[in-house]
Amino acid sequence: MVKVYTIASGKGGTGKTTVTANLGPMMARYGKRTCILDADVGMANLGLILGLEDLPVTLHEVLAGKARVKDAIYEGPFGVKVVPCGLSLQGFQESNPDRLRDVMADLVSEFDILILDAPAGISKDGVIPLTVADGVILVVNPEISSIVDAIKTKILTETVGGHVEGAIINRIAGNRDEFNRAQMEKLLGVRVLGVIPEDPNVRRASAGRAPVVVKYPPSDASRAFKRLSADIAGIEYVEEAAPVSEESFIDRLARALFRAKA
Ligand code: ADP
Ligand code: MG
Repeated sequence: MVKVYTIASGKGGTGKTTVTANLGPMMARYGKRTCILDADVGMANLGLILGLEDLPVTLHEVLAGKARVKDAIYEGPFGVKVVPCGLSLQGFQESNPDRLRDVMADLVSEFDILILDAPAGISKDGVIPLTVADGVILVVNPEISSIVDAIKTKILTETVGGHVEGAIINRIAGNRDEFNRAQMEKLLGVRVLGVIPEDPNVRRASAGRAPVVVKYPPSDASRAFKRLSADIAGIEYVEEAAPVSEESFIDRLARALFRAKA
């Protein structure tokens, strides 16, 4: 059975696209047939951070009724399939968000997991992704304005008949004034599925047009994304062994000296 997740927030910039771009490839790596879609049709950037742009057919053309979704599926890292949006404003204006339901219906038989990167806010193109998901996952930063916006998104989801699966707390920096996991669960009224630290490697990876799990696998954010992906995919997480470091100069010297004495 396919599982459809929508990554939502309320406030912009909490890390929805980052979460989508990292969970998708990891789920694919764990053996799930996974497709990630850029449902943020106005401010599309999922393709951008995955190195996919200037494509002939995107979700824009599909939502405009000019193309079929199978022609807008591209190959992403670790075998994840990606349905990006175009960058033009005209493409956005011609898109009909209602068509998203048909797009999902066309994809369900092909995949185990579909992940939609939703827009911020409560416009029509933002509400439909909340209704087509089996589970909405809220991406929240550990600060009051982000929490309040996430609560509004939770209420909106439930009002339109959707279901909130849980929340991901993104950009935990370990400051004293931050809300902790238990406080967030109490305020949001949903389970916290995972916690992703603030990590400069996330931005560095985006600048290099790849998700952090691909570009900097041993980083703190990558390890958190791997654990979270395994949890959501329902598989056991095994921490990958750190790469064996090369023999240092001191080791080599010690070995040479020892051999000379023997
Ligand atoms: P949204 O899709 O919710 O608008 P993005 O995923 O585009 O948010 O993230 C907004 C900015 O925050 C980006 O520049 C991204 O690189 C950065 N960012 C997201 N998560 C983290 C993190 N855990 N650590 C550091 N920077 C992050
Ligand atoms: Mg985004």
